[in-house]
Amino acid sequence: MKSLSRILLQTSMAVVISAAAVVSSQAASALEPEKIQAALQAAYDKYKGLQEGANADYIPVLAKVDPNIFGITLVTTDGKIYSVGDVKSEVSIQSISKVFTMARVIEESGAEAISGNMGVDATGQVFNSIVAIEQYQGEEMNAMVNPGAITATSMIKGANGDEVWNKIINTYNDFAGRKLHVDEEVYKSEAETNQRNQALAMLMAAYGRIEGDAIEATDIYTRQCSVAVNTKDLATMAATLANGGTNPVTGKKVISAENVDEVLAVMATAGLYDDSGKWLYTTGLPAKSGVGGGILAVSPGKFGIAAISPPLDAAGNSVRAQKAIADISNALGGNPYKVQPK
Ligand code: GLN
Repeated sequence: MKSLSRILLQTSMAVVISAAAVVSSQAASALEPEKIQAALQAAYDKYKGLQEGANADYIPVLAKVDPNIFGITLVTTDGKIYSVGDVKSEVSIQSISKVFTMARVIEESGAEAISGNMGVDATGQVFNSIVAIEQYQGEEMNAMVNPGAITATSMIKGANGDEVWNKIINTYNDFAGRKLHVDEEVYKSEAETNQRNQALAMLMAAYGRIEGDAIEATDIYTRQCSVAVNTKDLATMAATLANGGTNPVTGKKVISAENVDEVLAVMATAGLYDDSGKWLYTTGLPAKSGVGGGILAVSPGKFGIAAISPPLDAAGNSVRAQKAIADISNALGGNPYKVQPK
C-alpha cells in the first residue's frame, strides 16, 4: 500500500512539474525577444502614417511640439529593453506624473490616505472638471484627475516646497532609473495659464481635502507635469510597477510591492480619463496618458510599455500611442484577464 501511494504521489508530482514547465514555456515563448521586437515593429509600421488627432493647445507650448514624434519602448520585468522609432525625443510627462506622486503618497502615508481623502472612484467627467468636485464634494474622485492629483501633491510630507519637490523628482528618477529634468519652457507656459487648476485646488481646499497652501500645491503639481521624458523613461517607470515596485533595470526598490496594486487599480479605472472603460475593455491593462502625448501601460508581472505621439483624440489620449500599445500587448498576451481554463 505504502509503495503504491508513493508511486501515485510521484506520478502526480511529475504531472504537476511537467504542467508547470508547459505554463512557463508558454509564458517564455510569448515574450521571446524576436517576438517582442516584431510586435513593436509591426505596430510602428502600421500607425506611423496615421494622421488623426491634434496636439493639446490649452497649454500654449504643447501646440508647438513636433506631431510626428513617434516612438515605442517595452521593458520586461527581467530588465530587457526593446524600442522602435523615435526613442530620443522627450515630451512633458503631464498627467502620467499623477501615478508616481500617488505612489509616493501611499508609500508615505498608506493606501487609506488616498481612499479616505480624494477617493478612488472614476468621475465620468473630464480631467479638469469643476462639476465633479461639486458633485462629490471633493470625495469619491481619484488621484488621476486634476483635483485629486493636486491634492495628492499637497499630501507629500515636507518642511517646505523644496523638500516636497525633491521627494517628488527623486521618486520619478528612481522609477525611470535616471536623473530627469524639468522642461522650463513647458513649466513657464503652464504656470502662466493654470488659473483653472488653481481654482480646482482652491475648491478642494474649501472642501477640506487640501491642507496647507493650495496655490503652492498647484505650482508643484505644474512642475511635476513639466518633467521631460522619452519612451524608455516611461516604459521603465511602467515596468517598475509591473515588477512589484522594484526597477527591473537598476534593481532599486522604489516602492513596496504591497503598495503597487492600489496604484494599478486607480490607473485601471481612471488612467485614460473618461475613456478608461473603453481602454480596459480592449487591453485589460492599467495605464496612464498625458496631454504631452505619452501613454504608459502595465502588464503585471510581465512588462511595462510606453509610446509617445503628441496628437490626441477628443478624450485627450494619444491616438497612435493607444493603438500601438493595444496591438503590441494583445500580440504578446499582456492582458491579465485573458486566462485559459484549467
Ligand atoms: N498639466 C496638465 C493639466 O493640469 C496635465 C493634464 C493631462 O495630462 N491630462 O492640465
